[in-house]
Amino acid sequence: MRPETAVARELAALLPPGAVHATPSAEFLSDETEGRGFRGSAEAVVLPSNAPEVARVVAWCYEHDVAIVPRGGGTGFAGGAVPLDGGVALSLDRLVRVRSFDPLLWRIWVESGLRTADLHRIARESGLWFPPDPGAAEQSQIGGNIATNAGGPHAFKYGPTGAWVTGLEAVVAPGEIVSVGGPIRKDVAGYDLKSLLIGSEGTLGVVTAAWLKLLPAPESALPVVGFYRGTASGCAAIERVLGSGLPVAALEYLDAATLAFATPSFPGEVPPPAALLVIAEADGSRTEATRLRGEVLEALAEDALVVQAPTDPGAVAELWRWRDGVSLTVTAERGAKVSEDIVVPIDRLAEAIEGTLEIGRRNGLEACSWGHAGDGNLHSTFLVAPGDEAELRRAELAAGEIFALALRLGGSISGEHGIGWMKRGQLARQWAPRALDLHEEIKRAFDPKGLFNPGKKLARWS
Ligand SMILES: Cc1cc2nc3c(=O)[nH]c(=O)nc-3n(C[C@H](O)[C@H](O)[C@H](O)COP(=O)(O)OP(=O)(O)OC[C@H]3O[C@@H](n4cnc5c(N)ncnc54)[C@H](O)[C@@H]3O)c2cc1C
Repeated sequence: MRPETAVARELAALLPPGAVHATPSAEFLSDETEGRGFRGSAEAVVLPSNAPEVARVVAWCYEHDVAIVPRGGGTGFAGGAVPLDGGVALSLDRLVRVRSFDPLLWRIWVESGLRTADLHRIARESGLWFPPDPGAAEQSQIGGNIATNAGGPHAFKYGPTGAWVTGLEAVVAPGEIVSVGGPIRKDVAGYDLKSLLIGSEGTLGVVTAAWLKLLPAPESALPVVGFYRGTASGCAAIERVLGSGLPVAALEYLDAATLAFATPSFPGEVPPPAALLVIAEADGSRTEATRLRGEVLEALAEDALVVQAPTDPGAVAELWRWRDGVSLTVTAERGAKVSEDIVVPIDRLAEAIEGTLEIGRRNGLEACSWGHAGDGNLHSTFLVAPGDEAELRRAELAAGEIFALALRLGGSISGEHGIGWMKRGQLARQWAPRALDLHEEIKRAFDPKGLFNPGKKLARWS
């Protein structure tokens, strides 16, 4: 075993002063899975300032067989940014430059450490919009969003992060900068390496910059909120929105337990027997959004206890702030949670919501779910008390049952958080052996020494 300071010392010689921390501070060793007792260790944290410095770090690590764990904002729910067992935590915090911004051409070229919320702000100042809106935008980075192919409420109409990436720059083994795509809206030259890197969770290379598409910001965004007596009537309303051909931008839900936790901060009245909340948003020009809002109101009103439809921009923003805070509100309830992000066909959503509660009951756990209903994407969650090992063990077993439920309903074990470390072994339940072989062959082709984020996004685990 190399003396603990050797990695830091040798990397420090390659980088400007202050770019290497020999004693990694806690913030670089955990992510949102910390409440599940997951924390790692690293021999050094490196903070390069540009792509050539990232390449230098990767080249040195590749030559010396040292693991490289790329790290964005650390808001992931799969343990992906947590260094498992030594190696280097490679933080992208300092790659924050906007390399070029062409508002009139609806495109921007940014480095991967730029915070998601900063990208939103930059676009908005020019009347443009970057639609992907994962919940922790003030902390997460665009590189982390790309590496997890993050979604969010507006992924329903506009697609996840990957749908907005036209080009990527990445550092790949054994330490080279490659670029695929660019400021171009179509590209079928060669295999789609860009799409392989998107969602690869730091296991194929380090994303250092991205060309992104933007859209003119919709003039109006008008949410409609419906409250229902039960899961069945709420899910029927969701299907009615789809069946009526209403092109809503977002289609979200909260189940009864989640709604109960989040009621105190809800910006409005929650009718007492409400057991499911649906948010559907109409967007477009003022005229389009207003017309669509009327149709959405009609579709959601049938069987609803109450529908509410704020139009004041402040009230609309407050509603989405509340929705963004749901994950943290649920965590605060007991101090920690085990939360997975399964996907099911939309016509099986009600079964998945009820199934989550049933799994909780069987395991003696408080359960709830909420999520991106239009995408059939649930955050199936079990509340735990930090430090209660027995409860945490039960919750981890329950998470395994959640994956089985998703597969039984014809879905997937992950819609947006990825496999990371927390879902190790689960892909083998979902894919055929030959597909798993191909997954492993792709990993070997990019990373023959297995040094990029070892232990993460594995096809098989034993
Ligand atoms: C309150 C809350 C709400 C959330 N809501 C959503 C949501 O609605 N939708 C959603 O999809 N997610 C959501 N998330 C999860 C999380 O925000 C996303 O997964 C986000 O994209 C992670 O970005 P990050 O920069 O924090 O990445 P990290 O957590 O730092 O890393 C995530 C993974 O990406 C890799 N990685 C990071 N940067 C790079 C890079 N530059 N190159 C290569 N690999 C890299 C890491 O190794 C790791 O495997 C939420 C999280 C929180 C805390």
